[in-house]
Amino acid sequence: MAEKLFLEVVTPQKAIVSEEVEIVVAPGSEGEFGVLKGHTTFLTSLKIGTLRYKDTSGKERYLFINGGFAEVLPDKVTILAESAERRRDIDVERATKAKERAEKRLAEKRENTDLTRAEVALKRAMHRLNIK
Ligand code: ATP
Repeated sequence: MAEKLFLEVVTPQKAIVSEEVEIVVAPGSEGEFGVLKGHTTFLTSLKIGTLRYKDTSGKERYLFINGGFAEVLPDKVTILAESAERRRDIDVERATKAKERAEKRLAEKRENTDLTRAEVALKRAMHRLNIK
């Protein structure tokens, strides 16, 4: 059994989390999964959603994850995300504007609107607002 479990959350811009944790629950593309220390090794893609973990003081922490990949080892979870923010770093005004923009595009259904892109933008904004 591994002694400890470490969590690393990295985006192309920066490292968001690098600390010892008790448990991680992540938005796997096949469904949410939880990891405790000693978990068997696996690799999965992630969907847009919330990652939560408990730090060593028992506090629950929440992060927005804009999809990516997770590598699970018995003593380490590495999350490579397209973008990610801790709950306290989520800008509600920005997410609200992004949500309104996407909703407007979807409602207007203009011929040259990329609807899939608008749907994904809406999903990101709604998940961000949900965490706050
Ligand atoms: P927007 O349309 O407002 O740019 P987006 O969903 O297209 O939102 P992303 O492509 O996910 O943005 O992220 C681009 C960068 O902006 C990333 O560094 C991400 O962490 C940051 N970011 C995006 N929205 C927010 C937000 N509401 N609060 C904090 N950071 C954000």
